[in-house]
Amino acid sequence: MRVSEMLKEIRGPWLKRVSHTLMRGEEGREALEQTLNRYYDLLLQAVATGDPGWLKPLLIEWASLRTEDELQEVDLSLSPVMAAMIGETFNVAREVLEPEAALELYEALLPVYTYSYTEIARHEILLRVSYVSSQLDKVKDELQRLDRSKSDFISVAAHELKTPLTLIEGYAAMLREQIRKEEETSPIVLMLRGVNNGTTRLGEIINDMIDVSLIDNNLLTLSFQPTWVNRLIEHLVEETTTLATDRGQSIDVIPFDGWEKQTFADTERIFQALRNVMTNAIKYTPDGGKITVSGRTLPGFLEVTISDSGIGIDPEDQSMIFRKFGRLGAVATHSSGKTKFKGGGPGLGLPITKGILEAHGGTIWVESDGYDEQALPGATFHVLLPLRNEPPDAKAAKLFRSAEENLDS
Ligand code: ADP
Repeated sequence: MRVSEMLKEIRGPWLKRVSHTLMRGEEGREALEQTLNRYYDLLLQAVATGDPGWLKPLLIEWASLRTEDELQEVDLSLSPVMAAMIGETFNVAREVLEPEAALELYEALLPVYTYSYTEIARHEILLRVSYVSSQLDKVKDELQRLDRSKSDFISVAAHELKTPLTLIEGYAAMLREQIRKEEETSPIVLMLRGVNNGTTRLGEIINDMIDVSLIDNNLLTLSFQPTWVNRLIEHLVEETTTLATDRGQSIDVIPFDGWEKQTFADTERIFQALRNVMTNAIKYTPDGGKITVSGRTLPGFLEVTISDSGIGIDPEDQSMIFRKFGRLGAVATHSSGKTKFKGGGPGLGLPITKGILEAHGGTIWVESDGYDEQALPGATFHVLLPLRNEPPDAKAAKLFRSAEENLDS
């Protein structure tokens, strides 16, 4: 008996069995039988022509008939349906046909069924991949929207806070004028000093918020000037020595080859970046600790390192601290002072530092063996700054070049 004839012979019982296996109730059975019949017609064609490709359009149609709910399921598969169809073919063939004929039918159907299985699995995977990637796109859009609204909030809040803060500062200054004659130890003078400290800190936080929103929105403008890293370091140490001494800490500077080279950078912004790293070194090092500033010259760059003997940072947290609000669990959750041990802060200092350095074409990273308040492994921050012979902006470069020529002549 020819294979197509065998297939025709088992068609009736096959249809009955498969539709019962796949659907226990009566509802929807007619539609299922129609689909199975379509499959069977194509199966006959495939066997007659030796080309399983006849089944392809129907298999793709089945794989694509997925609802959003089904796509959300982890275990998405038409393969059990295929398995039932294949299994029942062999069962029915064994029951209806002679063993030899059944075997012949198996052999003829095997490539067609393998093809069906592979095609359906391939389309299911493609469908799932495109579903998951569309979900990822949605999540990405939502995250970007949230980040934008966070950044908008920071910028609006910072500007709105600035006006009342200026008022408080103004009135506090007037009050201070009024009681000028009083003794320095008078309670009112002391209270006013408290108000001043508070407004200064608040002003710093507001400025940080403004800087972070400028960086977020790519609006940070740099004013490139001749800059000398050794002078910046000396100035930095001068400014922070009192803070460190108050905490019983020492600051050592180890000069390195090339640190006196002139480069072009936004001097104030680079100083701000270095100061952030330095105040952190003081803040996250216990009283009596040691801070060392050094560096090296690399081809096209100057690298400044600020090392401390403090609490250190776990390797898995080392990239997080450069993201906004990326402060770690060990620090105080409120802003209790700029250099108090583990004083905490809004978690904006390092993101700003990174933004400033990246705007210059440099970068910053940290090395630390881990976080340990007993063993104090310390941390070393590396600040990489490009060496520039002239400012990147052509107009400014021309200006500085002619100024130099005038000086030479
Ligand atoms: P913060 O305002 O919290 O100091 P930063 O952005 O300056 O914000 O720092 C982010 C976090 O990185 C800090 O909260 C702290 O957990 C960690 N950190 C920064 N510098 C050091 C350091 N030198 N040693 C240990 N941890 C540090």
